[in-house]
Amino acid sequence: MGDIFTRLVDMPCGICGHCNCNPDGSYTVCINARLGYEEQKKTYLHELEHIRGNDFEKYNVNEIENDVRRRLCEHTKKR
Ligand SMILES: [Zn+2]
Repeated sequence: MGDIFTRLVDMPCGICGHCNCNPDGSYTVCINARLGYEEQKKTYLHELEHIRGNDFEKYNVNEIENDVRRRLCEHTKKR
């Protein structure tokens, strides 16, 4: 996994965050600065899961989102 840069950005309400794959192989995770601390943490984990799953190479957004939610659920259950 490449370097991951995290930025807090003011985004419209309803958006939690997003992540980008940079040309140099690093990643930028943007998190909505308007979220509370707990929500920001959750969003960060969610975006990390996209990076872990190499979701940038997939095209079906709904599938990607469902997949990430399922994987995060499984992590939580194991803990
Ligand atoms: Zn997502």
